[in-house]
Amino acid sequence: MKTMSFLCSFAAAEALSTSASAQQYPTHNINMLVPYAAGGPTDTVARVLAQAMGKPLGQTVIVENRPSAGGILAPEVVKNAKPDGYQILIHHIGMATIPTLYRQLRFNPLTDFEYIGLINEVPMTIVAKPNFPAKDLKEFLAYIKANKDKVSYANAGIGAASHLCGMLFMSAIQTDFLTVPYKGTGPAMNDLLGGQVDFMCDQTTSTTSQIKAGKIKVYGVTSAKRVSSLPDVPTLQEQGLKGADVGIWHGLYAPKGTPKPVIDKLVSSLQEAMKDPTVNQRFTDLGAVSFPADKQTPAALQSHLKAEIDKWAPLIKKAGQYAD
Ligand code: ASP
Repeated sequence: MKTMSFLCSFAAAEALSTSASAQQYPTHNINMLVPYAAGGPTDTVARVLAQAMGKPLGQTVIVENRPSAGGILAPEVVKNAKPDGYQILIHHIGMATIPTLYRQLRFNPLTDFEYIGLINEVPMTIVAKPNFPAKDLKEFLAYIKANKDKVSYANAGIGAASHLCGMLFMSAIQTDFLTVPYKGTGPAMNDLLGGQVDFMCDQTTSTTSQIKAGKIKVYGVTSAKRVSSLPDVPTLQEQGLKGADVGIWHGLYAPKGTPKPVIDKLVSSLQEAMKDPTVNQRFTDLGAVSFPADKQTPAALQSHLKAEIDKWAPLIKKAGQYAD
């Protein structure tokens, strides 16, 4: 009996201290985990956002890269982190494609997380190494079809946005080619610039500056409309290539069980950060479109994630691509 009441009062005391620390949150730095390598597009979005979220939170938000092919390690780390708001996750559309792509996954995007909100959506670009022998999409398609056994396509592993785009692209042009997986398209871009790989599909958040500097070739954007930061780059659709449209959306997550007052603070700091003119300018310069304020919420991220899982599952199953 005594043991029982001791346990009860211990549990009550612990609950009280958890709720007190949730009210005081945050009292020290917060880590935002990025599932891909530094210097890549997801990392870029994370760094812009982390710096801006630090202001309303009154603490530094440190970007921590936990790269892995397919971006499957960081969500697992955050799933297993203490649910106190000090380790959060930024991830993209991969959270909606990996549940179908991986037969064995050590986390469930629909049940292992608290949702903070949607951030932005970024189109992708089909780009090639500087001396790739094709001046436009027509020549590019003719070349890769004629040389499908020789050309190499860089991606960030099964489950990455670059994987999804490559998969749609292969199916749209009905040609398979060799893929080279990296732990993020930051290192893949270095190899593209160096000519070690031939082409890739990557977010404008990474390719815009290289395209503008004339360091890589570009053959089209994957959005329905042209991107304001790259007005001269035609869409794939307007060049007659259908079926390769994709927008890469980003969201913020916390471990399941993170107390509501903590989530509320993270949500309001996300919303504050998204109002910051420097954040808006930076995202616009990189071709990203911010979600409106009513989507920067837990409910909007949760329903968007669910809808995207349902949208991509049949397409992935049709393409027959899986990882074990
Ligand atoms: N762009 C990468 C992808 O394919 C991820 C990254 O390196 O940010 O998902």
